[in-house]
Amino acid sequence: MSEYLLSTRGLTKQYGRQKAVNQVDLHIKKGAIYGFIGRNGAGKTTFLKMISGLARPTSGEIEMFGYKGSELSQIRSRIGCLIEAPGLYGNMTAEDNLNIKCKLFGIKKPGYVEEILKIVGLEQAGKKKTKHFSLGMKQRLGIGLALVGEPDLLVLDEPINGLDPQGIVEVRDTILRLQQERHMTIIISSHILEELSKIATHYGIIHNGTLLQELTSEELMQRCSERIELTLQYPDTAVPVLDSMGFTNYQVVDQNHIHVFERLSESAQLNQALVKADVLVQEITINNEELETYFLNLTGGAQNA
Ligand code: ATP
Repeated sequence: MSEYLLSTRGLTKQYGRQKAVNQVDLHIKKGAIYGFIGRNGAGKTTFLKMISGLARPTSGEIEMFGYKGSELSQIRSRIGCLIEAPGLYGNMTAEDNLNIKCKLFGIKKPGYVEEILKIVGLEQAGKKKTKHFSLGMKQRLGIGLALVGEPDLLVLDEPINGLDPQGIVEVRDTILRLQQERHMTIIISSHILEELSKIATHYGIIHNGTLLQELTSEELMQRCSERIELTLQYPDTAVPVLDSMGFTNYQVVDQNHIHVFERLSESAQLNQALVKADVLVQEITINNEELETYFLNLTGGAQNA
């Protein structure tokens, strides 16, 4: 059995001539909070609909809980999803909305709805009709509805979009609690990388339907972390110097750059040693990349937004 709770191979969705999702190979480990990042129109919703069984792939394969192809219909109930705006009955309370969903699922357990209200922080909502809820409350109720039936995988499409800072914190906390206390695996989409950086354990970055990169949060932090950036004509000639000085955490990035992720205070000594060894250093700077800059660079710069 695969080490992943969910994986896709060559997953593609074509609308007319446009490939909204193009050959995506994505991998989610059990217990992960997978941040699915892409700009508007990148293909996030289409992808999430396919894995939730709400849209049919044009081609490619989905494997979930060890099931694939037509077997997937057997495990649909193990997926809870909130895709686009939650469908709420505006004239009813949060409790009523949850009760209706429970009825549909045949759940009659006493205290079940109260428990969900507590998880999503709506236990105080009382008699308030959902049409009078704030956006954050609506989103949390949407998550609550997705929790009915205790899914193992939670699919959340932009649940933070449009929330005020307080709402963002509340939704983030709810998601973290679900992962930590209920051991749920969660995929959550956003067009702002920073927004998920406090909770995601893994990331997938999608652009124009194509998955550009999958990485862990440690890898992301390392790529964005503080570093000495050396610009040189022949990076290979600098490597022996770095080695002789005992540097181990560095990376030859391309034909002109080396990034050094340690001993940032020693940049002057490093420069001196390189000059002594006749290595031509064009520039030496200390840099750290903002998460958002990293994302923008990866997806073709701000002008492409
Ligand atoms: P957003 O955050 O704006 O919803 P997204 O990353 O979720 O963006 P999708 O909604 O998946 O992106 O859309 C991907 C592309 O597919 C877009 O160009 C969109 O116009 C197109 N698309 C999505 N659904 C359909 C459809 N039912 N028919 C035709 N084109 C569609």
